[in-house]
Amino acid sequence: MREYSIGLDLGGTNLRAARFSPEDGLGEARTVATRVNMGPDAVMEDILELVGQVRAEAGPHQRLRGVCLAAPGPLELPVGRFHQPPNLAGWHGFAMRDVLQPRLDVPLYLENDANAAALAEYHLGAGREAKPRIFCMLTLGTGVGNGLVMEGRIFDGVRGLAGEAGHITVDPAGALCGCGNVGCLETLASATSVVVRAERLLTEGRAPRLRTLVENRGLSAALVSKAAEEGDADARELFAETGRALGMAMAAIVNILDPEMIAVAGGMSAAWPLFSPSMLEELRRRSYVFRLAEDATAFERPCRVLRAELGADAGLLGAGLLVFLER
Ligand SMILES: [Zn+2]
Repeated sequence: MREYSIGLDLGGTNLRAARFSPEDGLGEARTVATRVNMGPDAVMEDILELVGQVRAEAGPHQRLRGVCLAAPGPLELPVGRFHQPPNLAGWHGFAMRDVLQPRLDVPLYLENDANAAALAEYHLGAGREAKPRIFCMLTLGTGVGNGLVMEGRIFDGVRGLAGEAGHITVDPAGALCGCGNVGCLETLASATSVVVRAERLLTEGRAPRLRTLVENRGLSAALVSKAAEEGDADARELFAETGRALGMAMAAIVNILDPEMIAVAGGMSAAWPLFSPSMLEELRRRSYVFRLAEDATAFERPCRVLRAELGADAGLLGAGLLVFLER
């Protein structure tokens, strides 16, 4: 009998579910709005409802192997307890496994969403051919997500809290971050941070090309990137600053882990030509390990930094895939 899994991606805005099998890949995703303010119990009902729908669609001739839910952190594993999650306000202390597992007749897997996305990228995206022994992914979106895959398995840390490179300090005098620290990578490399800094430029009467573009349109990271591509010097410098922040954080990652591959994902990764030159320059300048490790003539497995290949479905895909990798 053919087997499939159900992957779910719980975000602060949307809750998505899809079936997955190694043969057929990811099925069409079902999406509902996440009723964050209704509280976790209501959303757990929505999760069970979606599982029921996907299961009905698959029919009785295929066996459901398990369900995996990817959720934003900080998420304690394996119990799935939230610890002051910034994107799920009021959910502190709620443990998902206690509610969900008794109502499922198949194994339930819980994972941090950035880790699930990294797992998918490792197996099906940028890591597909090289199968890098130590793989790190940074996802530049609303925040900066981070996932680690070591020797083919997600590295969760002792409590499930590993992989928070988005909160490495890159500017001790920087802006306040949602985590309570100042100058985190997230305050300079998330799409949100691009918009915040661009607003400041506009208030100061700078970024003339951006000012023209933004008329009658909402300010977005994509628009700032367009202004930079069209030669706006202030917008270009904004992305160069993002690159330097990324390079600084990556230097810390490389110095500690000596990884084989670092992939950059998320909507912001589309601006790769704008931030990657300063990112790589900063990384080389600050990490002698990287300067050594990137030399392909010296090492069979040199360290590579590149763009991720999978898009917004990476988390969902990783959740579906994880069920087939666990024993
Ligand atoms: Zn932070």
